Amino acid sequence: CGIVGFVGNQQAAPILLAGLAKLEYRGYDSAGLAVRDGDGKIEVVKAKGRLKVLAEKTNGGQALAGDCGIGHTRWATHGEPSETNAHPHCSDDGNVVGVHNGIIENYQELKDKLLRKGYQFYSETDTEVAIKLVDYYYKKYLGTPVDAINHAMVRIRGSYALAVMFHDYPEEIYVARKDSPMILGMADGECYVASDVPAILKYTRNVYYIGNMEIGRLQKGAITFYNLDGDEIQKEPVEITWDA
Ligand code: GLU
Repeated sequence: CGIVGFVGNQQAAPILLAGLAKLEYRGYDSAGLAVRDGDGKIEVVKAKGRLKVLAEKTNGGQALAGDCGIGHTRWATHGEPSETNAHPHCSDDGNVVGVHNGIIENYQELKDKLLRKGYQFYSETDTEVAIKLVDYYYKKYLGTPVDAINHAMVRIRGSYALAVMFHDYPEEIYVARKDSPMILGMADGECYVASDVPAILKYTRNVYYIGNMEIGRLQKGAITFYNLDGDEIQKEPVEITWDA
């Protein structure tokens, strides 16, 4: 339901929690964060219920040290509200970790395919299927994260805004969307992504809108966009003139 991502020079978790709080008005039943630093492990913390529970569990975010991360507030559509079904979701080996807004319509068909390939599932969500599909294509074609997400996008039917981290690509966040809102912004070389403007308005008024079936890559000091062919595309930021 709500997505926030950050990569920069500050501790990510407190920024993610503050951004998610700005999206609280949309409603949610659980929340979670994934944060990593350098080439270290991606740490995931989730909690059922209010954001306050997640904030308490992470000491206001202070318990998570990294400066690159993603956060999510979930409004359950597939699978009951629970800590297990809360996002972020991970591939079996933890290489791919991501959050998702929307609905994967053909998730059962994709899940059956992945089960046949040896994947296991711990949650009832359509989101876990999407994340594992990205992992599947990443390993199958030995390409870049952009290639893997593009392959997954071709197969997924439904609506989604996705924010994904790859263990092999530290300090980077990849985002993609179809029929579900998502915006990106940069301020002082630090990059933000969110499912709605209020989450990042405190940091920047210049936002990039990412189109359907496009990918964005956030790094310290750079945002790059790609089309479904994996080619780089140019975008101009749009100035937000209203206040949240
Ligand atoms: N369909 C996903 C789920 O049930 C995402 C729901 C959302 O947009 O929060 O976990």
